[in-house]
Amino acid sequence: MDNITASELAGFAVGTFLLSATIAAPKIDALSSASQRSSLGMCKRCGNLRRIACSRCKGTGSVTERGILGINFVEDLLETLGRESKASRVTCMKCAAKGSFPCPDC
Ligand SMILES: [Zn+2]
Ligand SMILES: [Zn+2]
Repeated sequence: MDNITASELAGFAVGTFLLSATIAAPKIDALSSASQRSSLGMCKRCGNLRRIACSRCKGTGSVTERGILGINFVEDLLETLGRESKASRVTCMKCAAKGSFPCPDC
């Protein structure tokens, strides 16, 4: 019976923690991630990963031209039909296909 009581207590504690964390999340998240990292001597921007994912290609190194040319309904149609459209996928010029940048703060 002790085990049940203990796990019930643990469950209650976790529940309370999650509830308070959810309520305070926006503030804590902004504060703690930055202050925690700096107190640990970590980079605020990248958390010592030394790399920042490219915002344009989301770290994949290539982007779709969808929407840029405005004629991609043809590509979409071909893709829907199961044909690979190589033209719609191009190298990301922002990161030179690397998918990430060296952290400017490190
Ligand atoms: Zn950094
Ligand atoms: Zn990129």
